[in-house]
Amino acid sequence: MRVEITASALGAIRAAAGAAQPNECCGLLIGRRDSAICRITRAVAAANVADDPARRFEVDPVVLLATHRLARDAGEAVIGPYHSHPGGAAEPSATDLARARDGAAAGDVWVIVGGGAMRATLVRAYAFDGNAFAEAELAEVPES
Ligand SMILES: [Zn+2]
Repeated sequence: MRVEITASALGAIRAAAGAAQPNECCGLLIGRRDSAICRITRAVAAANVADDPARRFEVDPVVLLATHRLARDAGEAVIGPYHSHPGGAAEPSATDLARARDGAAAGDVWVIVGGGAMRATLVRAYAFDGNAFAEAELAEVPES
């Protein structure tokens, strides 16, 4: 799958990851998708309400509900979550996979920001098929 993301949405995600350090940031991706291409037009930041926000993320449920309504009213959809790994790689953790599978953190496309001095700006996208993550091509595109 190819994931296109607007420059403003990608910038918002990078900024949120930096601002949340040393905790994980989190939020939701709004856009449209078909079988081959997903286009993310907006990133909506949410408070990370996890018990251990340095190691896990949980999107504020109030924001989750409001964002679904916002997306629907715009004729778009909530594509999935984004979050950061302040000290880890930009790839799904075992916890992420478990929560994707049981629906605790649902989404067709996940965006993850890596951490650490050498990887501070690395952002990757993953498609989730209901069972496993597969890395997707992430392309920054102009605003539509
Ligand atoms: Zn994670």
